[in-house]
Amino acid sequence: MASAPPIPADPRPHLVDCCIDGSACTACGHVAARRHDRCERCLGSTTPKSFGPSGTVWSSTTVHLRIGDIAPPFVLAYVDIDCGPRVLARIVDAIEVPAGGVVRIVGNDHGDLLVEAVAS
Ligand SMILES: [Zn+2]
Repeated sequence: MASAPPIPADPRPHLVDCCIDGSACTACGHVAARRHDRCERCLGSTTPKSFGPSGTVWSSTTVHLRIGDIAPPFVLAYVDIDCGPRVLARIVDAIEVPAGGVVRIVGNDHGDLLVEAVAS
């Protein structure tokens, strides 16, 4: 099995076709939003795995401060990606999505994962 690529300094998830390029542990099933050679939880072997693009908001908040080039207000959310890890994402157009709301990965901006609300 090929080893995972080196972990870049930027800890945010890397996207391939709007899905997270992550890994899953072959021993305990732990999933990660990054490629790892070893499981973060049990140090078992991992296999590359793609997660997304859909997920469910676990929690969200509106930010009213400028962060770098990102003008306020914007909405950050922790999203439980379907069958995948929980990741931090920014919701496009600062639309508030309550916990339990369904979102979909649409890309990234300034390295941040971007999601949009999915009509239910
Ligand atoms: Zn594990």
